Amino acid sequence: MLGLAIAVSILLRGRPNRPRLFFAALAFDMGLWYLAQWLYHSGRSDLWARWTAVLAVFLPQFALHLFEAIVPEPNRRSMLLRAAGILVVPMLVLVLMEHTHLLVRGLVFLYVFGLIAAGLYRLARRGERSGSRAVQRRVRFLVLIGALATAFSLADFLWFIGAPLPPVSAVLSIVFLFVLSESLTRERLVDLYDILGQLLVSTALAFAMGGIFYVFVVLLGGFDNSYLGAILAAIVILLLFEPLRSKAEDYTHKVFFRERVDLERAVAKARGVLLHTLQVSEMQQIVISALEESRRATGAAIYLRDPLGSDFIVGAGFGPVAPARIELAAAHPLAERLNQGGAILMEDVAHQALEQRRSGRTREAEVDERLLSSAQLLGPFRTGVCLGIWGEKRDLLGLLLVVDDRVRDAFSPDEGVLLESLAVQVGVVIDNSRQYRRMQERDRLAALGQMAAGLAHEVKNPLGAIKGAAQLLSDPGDDSQLGAVEQEFVGIILEEVERLDRVVGSVLDYARPSKGELGAVDLNAVVRRTVTVLASDRAEDCEIVTDLSERLPPVRADAEQLRQVLINLVKNAVQAMGGQGVVRVRTAIHAEPPTALASAPAGEWVEVSVRDAGPGIAPQVLKNLFVPFFTTKDRGTGLGLAISQRMVEEMGGRIEVTSHLGDGATFTVLLPSGEPHGLRAGSAGEVEHRAGQTPAAPEAVLPSLKPA
Ligand code: ADP
Repeated sequence: MLGLAIAVSILLRGRPNRPRLFFAALAFDMGLWYLAQWLYHSGRSDLWARWTAVLAVFLPQFALHLFEAIVPEPNRRSMLLRAAGILVVPMLVLVLMEHTHLLVRGLVFLYVFGLIAAGLYRLARRGERSGSRAVQRRVRFLVLIGALATAFSLADFLWFIGAPLPPVSAVLSIVFLFVLSESLTRERLVDLYDILGQLLVSTALAFAMGGIFYVFVVLLGGFDNSYLGAILAAIVILLLFEPLRSKAEDYTHKVFFRERVDLERAVAKARGVLLHTLQVSEMQQIVISALEESRRATGAAIYLRDPLGSDFIVGAGFGPVAPARIELAAAHPLAERLNQGGAILMEDVAHQALEQRRSGRTREAEVDERLLSSAQLLGPFRTGVCLGIWGEKRDLLGLLLVVDDRVRDAFSPDEGVLLESLAVQVGVVIDNSRQYRRMQERDRLAALGQMAAGLAHEVKNPLGAIKGAAQLLSDPGDDSQLGAVEQEFVGIILEEVERLDRVVGSVLDYARPSKGELGAVDLNAVVRRTVTVLASDRAEDCEIVTDLSERLPPVRADAEQLRQVLINLVKNAVQAMGGQGVVRVRTAIHAEPPTALASAPAGEWVEVSVRDAGPGIAPQVLKNLFVPFFTTKDRGTGLGLAISQRMVEEMGGRIEVTSHLGDGATFTVLLPSGEPHGLRAGSAGEVEHRAGQTPAAPEAVLPSLKPA
């Protein structure tokens, strides 16, 4: 019954392929064979004895085909299969004609056991030849159980020739079928670790439970109260099952899976140490030496995204020399598969692709093949395990590659999961170290800002004095006029003092920005006014074109600061174009809050963007745009964008930049629309009015600014 159940289950559990079909046939044959024997024993009908013999003749046929299908060797024709195919006909004729004769039985006996033994031997040889550790293990195990089942089945045949023995073979045959069915349904060869463990545990448990049952029902019970005995036995079994199982599992793990335990230990230890690590370089060393010491891998490498985010750069490793750089664009299929979660076992993907090709699933096969060809970038690590290192925001920070080139199929999916836990920890360390660096940077900037502000303050007063003195020199008011040369020098002094004064002013602005008064502001009006002012005092040959959305809701902002931000952006744009060209200023409703603002309030957002047709911004510059004092200009302060960003963020908004090299840059200021909570119109004192109008009473102006 179990044999039949296993046969049905394998057909139900997945696509029937060659090994599965032969397996189902073998399991059916075995099940029916035992059934026919039992029927013969209970009814003594000659018909069942004949059936038993017929089923026995088919047994080696299915078994041999199955063995061939499990470890196929496409280039070798199996002589054994051919011989078995030829033998089956005379054997069938024999048993159908005369199955009771001792000679016929002897022949059937020899035929069945001879072929199965030869089949198992060939299977063992093919397993050894395969060169894959997983296949070797699996096959060794199959052969062992198969040989045991066959040897004990000899006992079953003994009744045939007149010497019945206890049916141990039935149990072993079921075990054999179970192992086969598990390895077929999981498809993954290496999972034998699991199956082996499970099987050892279940077999030990089955025997223990059987023993308990035997003690209660047969030894203690006797015939009359065997029901009571059975119930008692069942209760004892229920009580003991869990603790016995976990003990048996622990034991089998320790005894049979040493290597795996070593890896587990190494990973657990490394994860423990990583908990207290903040340095990325230290983290890499910890991970790499843990993997090296586990002796479970012959190579490992950690790749981290380079600061510009375009490539992976190798950080640390041992074993074969890993490529120094992996281009993100070329590794796209890899990143995509990693994004689906879990470790990628490359050899698994290769097996899978082959299987998919064979069974005609071309699309899936192509996806896997693309993945395999992008894995070529990993060099000597292309056949190992590839794991993604993920950041807090699900961004791919790097790769962890592990390989064991001593054997094929070196890692099981379980080991993949184990390594993944290590990769997760690596991601946490990178995130933490970034956070730590950011905090350090912030503290450093705060200290620097304070110092700069103090310095600026000290410089401002003498600067005023120098300016006054220089002005006096240039225009003394009496007849003692300066000569042309002196006049020019004084001019230079005045000009440079002016510039210094501006720089000092910016530093003070940055160090102590005035807290803006937030109110409902008409963004279009701010833009118009700023553009008018800029257009009037521009010496360059630049045109500022505006494109203003008419149905803009008021934004929550400080009008004066907003104007300052706009002036900064437009001036930068003009300078980027070398003073020539068109700057486009555009306002629009931004339907959704910016995604980068996690705590962005819901509701409408408004944007104003400044676009230029300059040279664009190089990635290295883009990264540092908002860093205070970062500038690429000879006479720049590097504070314009830093101050603008701070102001906009204080208004609850955000500045975004897009730029393509050679194709200009666009700076977009995003602001939340509407009035601040609890703010009555105009109560904050700042309500924007249209350029050129005299300011009206705030309450009177505001309604006209609301969208119609
Ligand atoms: P500054 O203008 O004094 O250099 P900013 O903070 O305003 O300071 O700008 C910092 C840097 O950002 C500039 O030096 C420039 O390299 C770059 N930048 C800003 N705006 C643009 C733009 N529209 N196009 C190209 N580069 C820009």
